[in-house]
Amino acid sequence: MSEPATRTQARTNRIGRHLPTSGGLEKTLRLAREQELETVQIFVSNPQGWAMPVPRPDAGLFVEGAREVRLDPVVVHAKYLINLASPDPELRERSARVLAAELVAAGSVGADFVVVHSGSHAGSGEEKGMERLVKGLAGARELAAEEAGTDGVAKPAEPLVENSVGAGTQLCSTFDALARVADRAGVRVCVDTAHAYVAGHDISTPEGARDVASELVAELGDRLALLHLNDPRNGFESHRDGHERIGEGHVSRGGWVELFKGLTGVPGVMETPYATPETDAEQVRLAKELAGGLSLARQWV
Ligand SMILES: [Zn+2]
Ligand SMILES: [Zn+2]
Repeated sequence: MSEPATRTQARTNRIGRHLPTSGGLEKTLRLAREQELETVQIFVSNPQGWAMPVPRPDAGLFVEGAREVRLDPVVVHAKYLINLASPDPELRERSARVLAAELVAAGSVGADFVVVHSGSHAGSGEEKGMERLVKGLAGARELAAEEAGTDGVAKPAEPLVENSVGAGTQLCSTFDALARVADRAGVRVCVDTAHAYVAGHDISTPEGARDVASELVAELGDRLALLHLNDPRNGFESHRDGHERIGEGHVSRGGWVELFKGLTGVPGVMETPYATPETDAEQVRLAKELAGGLSLARQWV
């Protein structure tokens, strides 16, 4: 039997990466153009500190530019310090307020989504942590809707809950837990491939990745709005975070191919270490190829 002469598989996953905003959003757009991104992720405030996002004078320019470059979706990653599931009421309150501000700030730069970590229950039990997380998400969305009204921002961005590596008392390292939060909070989710692997979802081989993709479709379906395309640095079930460039971690080429094949239409952004602009652009090309080819299938353009 010979192989069929034509490829029937066409790419449906839009590919992008996290980009810096330090040189201004105009520079971010230039990088997106040069690296031929189809989607992008940025921060709207320092992710390691509590400082609130401040309005950006270049927000309007970015909204227009992102439309021209056809970046879709535009994604913001929320602060790492946010823990909506914390048993500490002060930290919880602060987390909800900051997330609300980030949803509004993201809306003002035209972002569709804000990826937020599921947080930790800190020993108070998974069920209690989940309850607080669900409540915190609702509270932040309410607050964001009010603030967007006063700030004249058309629409706050939509929060996406990200799966964790399952270290210590972190919530949502399984797709089942992620689905429960999504259902109860009425939100969609982001799945980080490196987190999934070290948490015990084996995407390293083609067979494994095929199974994980089916599991994702069965558990989350349309609620899976985004992938974080990171090659795991650390071992299977190690519960240790760490992102390598695509092709430099534990996932085989075939693993990536099957993962993309099973997740039709889900966009993905890399959060891999920055290198030279050439290497970064090469990574984007590689991810596109693994997802089915350089050009998008017509209905996904
Ligand atoms: Zn994250
Ligand atoms: Zn991630």
